[in-house]
Amino acid sequence: MKTKMLAMILCYASYFMMAQTGGGEFQFKSTECLSNDERVSVQKMLKTNKQTLQLEGKLTAKSSLPSSLFIWPIKKSATAPYNEVWSISNYVDHNPNYPNQLLDYNCGNRTYDTNSGYNHAGIDIFTWPFGWYQMDHNQAEVIAAAPGIIIGKSNGNYDRNCNFNNSNWNAVYVQHDDGSVAWYGHLKNNSLTTKNIGQAVAAGEYLGIVGSSGNSTGPHLHFEVYNSSNQLVDPYHGSCNSSSSGAQSWWQVQKNYNNPKINAISTHSQEVSFNNGCGVQESTYFKNSFNSGETVFIYTYLSDIAIGTPVNIQLIRPDQTIAYTTSFNMNVFYSASYWFWSLPASTFNQDGNWKAKVTVGSMTETHHFTYGTLSVSDYHLNNFIIKVLNPVKNHQIQLEYNGKLNQKFTVEIYSMAGRLVNKRKIILQKGNNILPFNASKGSYLMKISSQNFEETFKILN
Ligand SMILES: [Zn+2]
Repeated sequence: MKTKMLAMILCYASYFMMAQTGGGEFQFKSTECLSNDERVSVQKMLKTNKQTLQLEGKLTAKSSLPSSLFIWPIKKSATAPYNEVWSISNYVDHNPNYPNQLLDYNCGNRTYDTNSGYNHAGIDIFTWPFGWYQMDHNQAEVIAAAPGIIIGKSNGNYDRNCNFNNSNWNAVYVQHDDGSVAWYGHLKNNSLTTKNIGQAVAAGEYLGIVGSSGNSTGPHLHFEVYNSSNQLVDPYHGSCNSSSSGAQSWWQVQKNYNNPKINAISTHSQEVSFNNGCGVQESTYFKNSFNSGETVFIYTYLSDIAIGTPVNIQLIRPDQTIAYTTSFNMNVFYSASYWFWSLPASTFNQDGNWKAKVTVGSMTETHHFTYGTLSVSDYHLNNFIIKVLNPVKNHQIQLEYNGKLNQKFTVEIYSMAGRLVNKRKIILQKGNNILPFNASKGSYLMKISSQNFEETFKILN
């Protein structure tokens, strides 16, 4: 995996300051996700497991009913501070020739093969932005695309790989009611569902966390499907998917070939670093509360934006006037790209609640941050402020609230592994508020949300 800095010339108008800008492609490299030997040994393992499960009566003979159609197998965790967490690097290669003879279901070449004769047999969905950071914070969950029975699990394998290395992956294998089987590979070590082989999972149920175990260049999910006759399935319907199982889509709602997304807009204290070495967490330098005199780095992280699409950034003052705006058109297609602006302290001529807003074609995302000294009126302007006093004392979380009266909030508390521990609705009183909390010692994340507000706090218990 590597990042490329591309020279970018932006035209910008500004009255009193210059913004430094930059950005470019984030390139997710491909490698053979599973060698032929590994694929054969997985098939063998699954065959043995299925025989055992059938003998135990845990796997009924295949039903004549069609399998449930698939939902998307990646889910953003409740605490992830992004709009979306994924982009696609590769589809199934339908051209049996190699090397570099590529044909995806849509007759494009968004796939790969290798000199050794491997044609990509799955769909690669990588996490973006900050794949390693997402993995370390359990921000991208792999969920069951369809209900079924777990017929295989592999765990215990190293999960921070960056190239082809012939090592085993961590994976979950689920057989659906029609006998088809989905493979979910490259999972984070020890993140797998606690359910055992032979147990049922529902569609959307947690299976693990996106990782980089096995032959992998970075955190991504390899999703591979076989029909009841053990023939490879490409779940996408399209004019170049000529296999018999491709006569119709296996997705409930088939996503478009390209999936344009604003994955995130965020603020940082300095330039982020994507490439800190193999398997090393990126330097994110996330920051949402700036002191007077500080420079603010605004980043937006995009996926699959069509060439020619206008991108606009706006920086909005606490009084809702625009402090800075700039636009450019995407001139190259990237499955992942990032664009940033560093704005000097002189830009921030008001203290209070600022917004960074990005508009890409018809999509818009807004990020809130604060600058300078906050007065009580700043809090009222935006109708909220919540402070959490750590650590938890006498099984009580103390919250300070300085916002609108009679506001209803939903409070969700998660373990650091992303499991929901507690959920309730509350009305916060101005000043001090107390929430009973009886979970075991350790750190937690508490998400507090209402109609127009969402913030996550760390709780030390
Ligand atoms: Zn793959």
